[in-house]
Amino acid sequence: MKIVTIIGARPQFIKAAVVSRSIVQRNDIQEIIVHTGQHFDPEMSEVFFKELMIREPDYFLDINNMTHGAMVGTMMIEIEKILLKECPDIVLVYGDTNSTLAGALTAAKMNIKVAHVEAGLRSFNRKMPEEINRMVTDKISSLLFCPNENAVQNLKNEGINSTNATIAISGDVMYDSLLYYQKICKRPNIAIPDHFVLCTLHREENTNNPENLLAILSALEQISLKTSVLFPIHPRTQAVLEQLQYDFAKTLIHFITPVGYLDMLWLLSHSKMVITDSGGLQKEAYFSQKYCITLRNETEWTELVESGCNFLIGCHKENLITKYNELIYKEFNISSSLFYGDGHAGNKIVELL
Ligand code: UDP
Repeated sequence: MKIVTIIGARPQFIKAAVVSRSIVQRNDIQEIIVHTGQHFDPEMSEVFFKELMIREPDYFLDINNMTHGAMVGTMMIEIEKILLKECPDIVLVYGDTNSTLAGALTAAKMNIKVAHVEAGLRSFNRKMPEEINRMVTDKISSLLFCPNENAVQNLKNEGINSTNATIAISGDVMYDSLLYYQKICKRPNIAIPDHFVLCTLHREENTNNPENLLAILSALEQISLKTSVLFPIHPRTQAVLEQLQYDFAKTLIHFITPVGYLDMLWLLSHSKMVITDSGGLQKEAYFSQKYCITLRNETEWTELVESGCNFLIGCHKENLITKYNELIYKEFNISSSLFYGDGHAGNKIVELL
């Protein structure tokens, strides 16, 4: 069997590393890796290939820094050429980025089966570009690998069920990943405060709205007076803040460049708590037994909110400070193995493929 894997963004490298590791253990599957280039800075791409031992992509498309339509369209043109040449049995896509959508749409139009890892996730906010990408990808996929039962239910509610697709609960590959790599994670080679809150921020709904962004930063400044805020800053957020002439020299927030995954796992396990708008980090906080304040009004990972591990506060300054005060010294005592499988999602996915 021949599989073409389409990846392009940081979280996809992490997810694909799990499945690719499982694929190479078999000699009946050939995997061709296509990197669209959506994320291209060395610290957003290359470091993950190196650390997670993902082999060099067979194709690198270098498609980035475009509007959504131009990006998806350009990716489709290039992916079509590759699929015509490689004639795969299955195209494997991950998550919810423009690379996911471009890979899925191109394959489906060529009558090639699409397999979607992290299927069925919904924020129910169609203003998020990721929500559109997920909904369309799930609708045109033949194989849907859901992290849990909630995701299956979301698919069923949209009329996607076993009559028109194969749906499986695989567990979450990010849980596999954390279990595998946390044993070899390492202290980053940078100055790190003794006690810190770990923060990331990159969703368009926050970065594209200066008022929201500055409200969040103002809250983080206040929190920094009590506990250091360590903030590996996403290139998009950095660019927006530079445009807004944010005073990086004067801020109390401890900004650092994005770190590799192994560094990130170390930071997670040594942090006091997590403040983020990242999808993946919400789960990783839970796996690492840390409370998470999510800088969004909704989340795809509703079970974390319902179980009291994760708190949605949008971009409200006072709510962020209040929630930080409430959680910073609170003990976390919820099991990390309740919601996302048993750490063998990668193997299950490859078996089902
Ligand atoms: N991550 C990382 N270095 C960083 C920030 C994040 O390795 O400086 C990892 C993080 O641990 C998680 C993934 O990147 O595994 C999440 O990616 P991101 O937040 O970009 O995307 P999302 O999960 O929101 O789609």
